[in-house]
Amino acid sequence: MKEFELINRYFKGRGITRRDVDLGIGDDCALVSVPENCQLAVTTDTLVSGVHFFADIPPRALGHRVLAVNLSDLAAMGAEPTWVSLALTLPDVDLPWLEAFTDGLHEIAEYYNVQIIGGDTTQGPLTITVCAKGIIPKGKALTRGGAKVGDWIFVTGPLGDAALAIEARKRGIALTPENKKALEQRFFYPTPRVAAGQVLRGMATAAIDISDGLVADIGHVLRQSRVNAVIHADKVPVSQALKDTLPEAERWPYVLAYGDDYELLFTVPDAQKSALQAKLKQYGVDAACIGQILPGEGKLEVLLRGQKLALPAKGYEHFTA
Ligand code: ADP
Ligand code: MG
Repeated sequence: MKEFELINRYFKGRGITRRDVDLGIGDDCALVSVPENCQLAVTTDTLVSGVHFFADIPPRALGHRVLAVNLSDLAAMGAEPTWVSLALTLPDVDLPWLEAFTDGLHEIAEYYNVQIIGGDTTQGPLTITVCAKGIIPKGKALTRGGAKVGDWIFVTGPLGDAALAIEARKRGIALTPENKKALEQRFFYPTPRVAAGQVLRGMATAAIDISDGLVADIGHVLRQSRVNAVIHADKVPVSQALKDTLPEAERWPYVLAYGDDYELLFTVPDAQKSALQAKLKQYGVDAACIGQILPGEGKLEVLLRGQKLALPAKGYEHFTA
C-alpha cells in the first residue's frame, strides 16, 4: 500500500467532521476558524518506540495514548480540544497494526469531539507525533505561574498506577490478574481530564498535568509562581490495586516521582475550594487536597504524617544518564 492509499483508507473521510473545519485532509494545509473571542492553544507530544512504549504495546492503546497525552496538555490549560494533526513514521505498512492503531485514535478523537485535520506519513523507526489544538476564551488560560500563598493544592485522581504497570513488567513484580488489568488500563488508556480542565477555568490559579511525576511537575508550578509548597504524601490518592501490591514504604517513588498517569494538579484559593470541589464532583472527578502553597522561591517539602519524607529521585528527563 502506498502513502496516499494509506491516508485515504485510514484518515480521510474517517472520524468526526466539525463545522469549524473549513478544509480538512487533502490539501497542503488544513483551514480552521477560531471563534473571535478565543485564543488558540497548541501543544505537541511525540511517542517514540522503545522510549515511551514497549514495541509490543497493543496498537489500539498506542492510538489512544498518543492523543490522550496531548489532550491532557490542553486540559491543563483549561482549553477545549478541537483539532489535531498527526505525524506518523512507520517502519513498514502493517495493515492489522494500522487498523487497530487508527481505531484507538479515532475512538478517543470522537469521544472528545476532536477532528484529525492533517498530518504527515513517512517511513522510518516507529514514531508518532500529535499536534493538538484547542480553543480558550481570551485571557482565561490556566498557566503554571499563577499559584498564590495560601492556595490549596489538589490532584484529580490516583497517582502511581501507570508507573507500577511499567515497573511490574520490567522487574517482574507479582500482580494479581485483576490488579494487572486495572494498572495496565491506566497506562494503556489514560483519561485526559478534559472536562475538569475547563471547570478549573476562572477558579483555579494554576494547573499542570502530571506527566513526569508529582514532584517534578509541581516543581514547575513552584518555580514559575515563585512560591513554596508542602505536600502531605498520605493525602495523595492511590488506587486499591497499588495499595494491594506495594506496602506503604515502597509506594513513594511510584506515587510521587514517576508520572504517566495524566492527572491534573491545580491550586485554588481558600474561598473557591469547596465550590470547585463540588463542581468537579458533578463531572465525576473526586479531587483530593494534598497540600498548600507557602511563601518562598520554589521549594517543596513532602511530609508523611507530619514527618519529613526524603524526596524520591526526579521525574523522567530525556538526555540524562
Ligand atoms: P504535503 O506533501 O503537501 O505535505 P502530504 O502528501 O504529506 O502533503 O499529505 C496529503 C494530505 O494528507 C495532507 O492534507 C496531509 O495533512 C494529510 N495527511 C498525511 N498524512 C497524514 C496522517 N498520518 N494523518 C492525517 N492526515 C495526513
Ligand atoms: Mg504540500
